[in-house]
Amino acid sequence: MTSAPVGNPSRNCVSCGRSISWDANVCPYCGHDFRVAMAGPAAMQKKDSSMPLIAGVLLIICSLGYIVMGGWMMAAGTSLMGFTEDIGGGAVAACGGLVLVLGILVLLGGVFAIKKTHFGLALVASILSLGTGLGIVALILVIISKDEFT
Ligand SMILES: [Zn+2]
Repeated sequence: MTSAPVGNPSRNCVSCGRSISWDANVCPYCGHDFRVAMAGPAAMQKKDSSMPLIAGVLLIICSLGYIVMGGWMMAAGTSLMGFTEDIGGGAVAACGGLVLVLGILVLLGGVFAIKKTHFGLALVASILSLGTGLGIVALILVIISKDEFT
């Protein structure tokens, strides 16, 4: 017979598998804390760091760079079109428009990162801003704080 004596019920530790006292809060063998496990996800404190906020601010700074650059390229390209017949000015303006759209996407990602929503968009925005040094930092921060996003 392997059943535990009545009055002293035991169970197996979910972490190391050894038999421990039923009402033990912490496994004496491996130190596994059952109070955390039993509390469940609902009672668990949601991790809350300022990393998404920092990432969001960095992304917004990057986005402003893109928007300023895109706007400038569009303006420069449009003014070139007035002087020349070739497509050079139009191409510059089109590139500027793309950079501008990129900037707006990064800006949205930054706002989402600050609000800790839409992890995917915050991640995409970080990748889109990798061209700047700040984007790399933002990408790392967004990935580390993935759990904080809703
Ligand atoms: Zn254990």
